[in-house]
Amino acid sequence: MKMFYEKDANVNLIKDKKVAIFGYGSQGHAHALNLKDSGVENVVVALRDGSASKKKAESEGLKVMSLSDAAEWADVVMVLTPDELQASIYKNHIEQRMRQGTSLAFAHGLNIHFNLINSRKDLDVFMVAPKGPGHLVRSEYQKGGGVPCLMAVHKDSSGKARDLAMSYACAVGGGRSGIIETTFKDECETDLFGEQTVLCGGLVELIKNGFETLTEAGYPPEMAYFETLHEVKLIVDLIYEGGIANMNYSISNTAEYGEYVSGKKIVDPKTKERMKEVLKDIQSGKFTKQWMDECKGGQKNFLRMREELAKHPIEKVGKKLRDLMPWIGKNKLVDKAKN
Ligand code: NAD
Ligand code: MG
Ligand code: MG
Repeated sequence: MKMFYEKDANVNLIKDKKVAIFGYGSQGHAHALNLKDSGVENVVVALRDGSASKKKAESEGLKVMSLSDAAEWADVVMVLTPDELQASIYKNHIEQRMRQGTSLAFAHGLNIHFNLINSRKDLDVFMVAPKGPGHLVRSEYQKGGGVPCLMAVHKDSSGKARDLAMSYACAVGGGRSGIIETTFKDECETDLFGEQTVLCGGLVELIKNGFETLTEAGYPPEMAYFETLHEVKLIVDLIYEGGIANMNYSISNTAEYGEYVSGKKIVDPKTKERMKEVLKDIQSGKFTKQWMDECKGGQKNFLRMREELAKHPIEKVGKKLRDLMPWIGKNKLVDKAKN
C-alpha cells in the first residue's frame, strides 16, 4: 500500500479554488478552519437559514452563505452535513446549481456508494475522509500534525480530480500523517465496520459492561468509572504512541498476564463471528437501508437510545467526577459554543 505525503501533492491547487463547506459540525468546522489556516482564502461555510452554527462560523472569521448560493459560487462543494440529509440537500440545493465542471466532495462514501446520490455527469466527485473525529482533525492540525486521510475519486470528468483531492487532503492536514488512496466502496465499508464494532459500538459496550459488573458487585461507581472509562484514554494514549507492546511495557507484568489470559474470555472467537455478520450487513447495504428507514421514520429509535444512554449511571457519575478535574475541561476538544 502506497502512502502519500505533502511532498507528493501540489498543496497550492486548492488555494486557487473557491471552497464551500456545507455544514459546520464536527467535520465542517475542522475542514473550514484547517483550509483557511493552510492558505485557502476563499472558504465559505454553507448553512441553512436560521442555523445555530452561523454564529460559531462567523466568530472564527468565516463567511457564511446560504446552501443554494454557495453551490453556485463554489469550485469545490464539500458536503459535511449529516449523512442522512445529504441526498435531499444535494437534490434541493446542489444538483441544479453547481457550475459545469466543478467538484463535489465528501468525507464519507455512504451516499455515493449506496446510490443515494447520483451525481451529475459533468462534475468531478472525490472524497477526503479524515480517519478521526472532526474535533481531532482540528486539534491535531493546530498542534502541527494532522489525522491520516483516505482519498478516493469516484468521477474524474476534468482529468484533474485526483490532484485536487490530494491537494485538499493536504490542506486539512492529511499530508502530514499520510494519505491512502482508496475507493468510495472500501472507505465506506471499513469506516462503518470500524465505528460499529471497535471504536464506538464495541468500546462503549465494553466500558458499560465493565462498569455495571463492578457496581453490581457492590464497588463504588466512582471507582468503577475511573477503572473502566477514565483509564481507557490513558491506556489508549500508550497504544496510539507506540503500539500494543508500548502499552504492555508501561503496565505491570500482572496486568499484562491478565490481558493474555482474560482478554480472550471477553472477546472470543464468537465475537469475531458476529463482527463478520456485522460486516456482511454493511457490505450488502442492509445496515444503510435500516438507518435510512429509521431516519424516514423520524429517528424515533435512534433518539430513544441516545436518551437511554444519557441516563446510564456511568454518565451521571462521570459528569460529577470530571467537574472535579478542571484541567480536563481546559482547552476542550468539544466546546459546544464553538464547534
Ligand atoms: P455533524 O452532525 O457534526 O454536523 C452536521 C452539520 O450540518 C451541522 O452542524 C449543521 O451545521 C449542518 N446541518 C445539519 N442539518 C442540516 C440541514 N438540514 N441542512 C443543512 N445543514 C445542516 O456531522 P459530521 O459528524 O461532521 O458528519 C459530516 C460528514 O462527515 C458525514 O458524511 C460523516 O460521515 C463524515 N465524517 C464524520 C466524521 C466525524 O468525526 N464526525 C469523521 C469522518 C467522516
Ligand atoms: Mg455528529
Ligand atoms: Mg463514519
